[in-house]
Amino acid sequence: MRIVVVGGGVAGLAAAHRAAQLGADVQVIEQSPAVGGKLRTVPLPSGQPVDSGAEAFAVRDPQTGEPSPAFELARELGLDGDLVAPAVSRAAVLGPDGLEPIPAGTLMGIPGEAAAETAPYNGPLLAPGADVAVGDLVRRRLGASVVDRLVDPMLGGVYAGRADDLSLAATIPALATALAGSPTLTGAVRAVLAARPKDPTPLFKTLARGLGSLVDALAAAVGADRVHTGRPVRELCRTRDGRWRLTVGSTRDPQNLLADGVVLAVPARPAERLLANVAPIDLNLDYASVALVTAALPEAALPEYSGLLVPSGSRIHIKAVTFLDRKWPHLRRPGRTLARLSLGRFGEESVLQRPDGELVETALGDLADIVGTPRRALESSVHRWGGALPQYAPGHPARVAAARSALPPGLALAGAAYDGVGVPACVRSGRTAAEAVVAAVEESMA
Ligand SMILES: Cc1cc2nc3c(=O)[nH]c(=O)nc-3n(C[C@H](O)[C@H](O)[C@H](O)COP(=O)(O)OP(=O)(O)OC[C@H]3O[C@@H](n4cnc5c(N)ncnc54)[C@H](O)[C@@H]3O)c2cc1C
Repeated sequence: MRIVVVGGGVAGLAAAHRAAQLGADVQVIEQSPAVGGKLRTVPLPSGQPVDSGAEAFAVRDPQTGEPSPAFELARELGLDGDLVAPAVSRAAVLGPDGLEPIPAGTLMGIPGEAAAETAPYNGPLLAPGADVAVGDLVRRRLGASVVDRLVDPMLGGVYAGRADDLSLAATIPALATALAGSPTLTGAVRAVLAARPKDPTPLFKTLARGLGSLVDALAAAVGADRVHTGRPVRELCRTRDGRWRLTVGSTRDPQNLLADGVVLAVPARPAERLLANVAPIDLNLDYASVALVTAALPEAALPEYSGLLVPSGSRIHIKAVTFLDRKWPHLRRPGRTLARLSLGRFGEESVLQRPDGELVETALGDLADIVGTPRRALESSVHRWGGALPQYAPGHPARVAAARSALPPGLALAGAAYDGVGVPACVRSGRTAAEAVVAAVEESMA
């Protein structure tokens, strides 16, 4: 059985790895020159490797305490010994009077205790399966300042989007479920937090050689001869005998590839394009673009946080900062302070149009204004991610379910466009997609 995986990000590689484990002859087709997608470790000019995309992943499900799919994968690949815990986990948010720690007892910034919540609703706050924008719900129940000061910066840190645009069911699913049985928002937050196993160990970890080492190990486990880069998939059609034909490569030199099953592990727009002749879907999914500036500064005193978040609408351009070598001791080098600064929110991409040098200057100027660090870097790098993070609008889970139900057997979707943007969710979606496709092909061959 031949399975083709389109897209060599972490979801596609995890799908290919699983399909190979299940005995399939698998091929990964990636359009860019390297696999890994948004997982990428690149050296600074001095040679120090740093992650220019994702920097860490959750090692367990916070709700169940079960090992996360990304942790399981790292363990299967023999990388669990390389996992590094952060020295400092607590981040701050920039308030009117400076940095404030993100308060304990909150869920994505939504408090479980509040001086004043709108009177309890006469029944559950959200019907089972219903959805709402996070900002809309929190503003109605707890007031605008909770949204602006805490929830919006927290969601901005993960999705580079706005609380008013993002789906509660897709971004905080446990809370959506709890709201179906709660007349208050704070009560539902407390219920979600109380159900979590008490585990004092850090939720997020990284790999000592960067998350690129996960990509390298995955690609090696799939097999170098099965992973093809620089090869865009441009068309997908069904053959008369129920197989799949993929048109791969440049328009001048196209090649056809036949498969029994296909996993599409690409962002929403290329997935929609490839499915246009087969099973048209409409995910109506926008993406935010972001830029990451990694800068080594002359050694500077920093506050005791892992980093900071900046509310939108302020005159500050950076939206989040990680104090990289405070958080990850293995990145420390004498005489310098390493910071990772991110810029760009959905709908506010104009800041990204600045040239690299100006972007570094802007980012370091903002950081200097907040924590007093030097404005000039010893060295820096800029990485721009166009179409970086999907903006799950209210109703996203229902649109994903409708898209999946429209697919013929033997074809599956995986990746950040669907079930969560975090590395664990992408790994899970890749593995689940591979299992579904292999099972469907086996059934069709039986
Ligand atoms: C700056 C940044 C920081 C992040 N930080 C974290 C973090 O710390 N922790 C965390 O858990 N998550 C983080 N995330 C999110 C996470 O990294 C991503 O959601 C995840 O890596 C997406 O994986 P993916 O495989 O779904 O998609 P991608 O990585 O986008 O991979 C999709 C691949 O498909 C390829 N492709 C597209 N079209 C075609 C085609 N027609 N033919 C062939 N190939 C095609 C693309 O080139 C790409 O390589 C971050 C994301 C960004 C952008």
